[in-house]
Amino acid sequence: MRRCAAFFVTRTPASLRLAGDPDAAYIKYASFRRTCAPCLWTSYKAYNLYKEHSMLKSLRMLVEFYGELGFERLPLYNFCDTLPDSEESGKVSQKLPKEGPLESLRELIGDCRRCKLSQGRTKIVFGEGSVKARIMFIGEGPGREEDLQGRPFVGDAGQLLTRLIEKMGLKREDVYIANIVKCRPPMNRDPQEDEIATCFPFLEQQIGIIAPQVIVSLGKVAAHKLLGISAPIPKFSITRIRGKFGEYNGIPVMPTFHPAYLLRNPRDKWLTWEDAQSVIKKLETLDSGT
Ligand code: SF4
Repeated sequence: MRRCAAFFVTRTPASLRLAGDPDAAYIKYASFRRTCAPCLWTSYKAYNLYKEHSMLKSLRMLVEFYGELGFERLPLYNFCDTLPDSEESGKVSQKLPKEGPLESLRELIGDCRRCKLSQGRTKIVFGEGSVKARIMFIGEGPGREEDLQGRPFVGDAGQLLTRLIEKMGLKREDVYIANIVKCRPPMNRDPQEDEIATCFPFLEQQIGIIAPQVIVSLGKVAAHKLLGISAPIPKFSITRIRGKFGEYNGIPVMPTFHPAYLLRNPRDKWLTWEDAQSVIKKLETLDSGT
């Protein structure tokens, strides 16, 4: 009896696995499906084998990705907790917690000791605000008050930021506020390159989850990282670039002064207000699609 090649492929799954090329198996499956009707069953098996390899490949890539970020557990949500009663099937998505991905990320960070900033901190300052925020405000790192409370921008500088947000016609809960690093640098020094490199992937994840339409970077450290400035942080001045939109992963970034700087230099509050107005205009432009 004449047998097509797909028959032999599916009858020798071990050789297929050893060959490590499920794509080739699928090409064979696809081409023989058209021409060899008696072999549909074996072709179907080849297709399932292909899918199995494909899923394993994707899973391996996912595990490696999170491994590189330093995660020890995958951000899987407990969907079983949210499964509906049988008559409610189809409403699963309505029951999933809206903040799930952020909460899972926070859980993954855990009691982080991945960089030396963990040694002097009191609390990790993860970030807070709306998961649906259109604007993200990103500072450089927690100060003393933030370190004690575990919340971003809650000291005097935080109150100034809150007033700015309200002047923009928003509430603090409408936006999302975070920092480049999540633990307080000793004596409020700038975070160092290695600390930023270790912590930034967490913020990257937060930005990815929230997907804001505009980011406002507060101070030179945040602008330096988000805009990929090549000059070393100590030699870089925010004054040169503030007020002009840059970009982070396709998201417009408005670099402006850090509120702590504005407390020391109140005359520059007007410049920051100009920057905030540019952000409002940008959102209006995005809304109108022009
Ligand atoms: S700054 Fe970031 S990476 Fe460093 S210990 Fe804190 S959470 Fe972990």
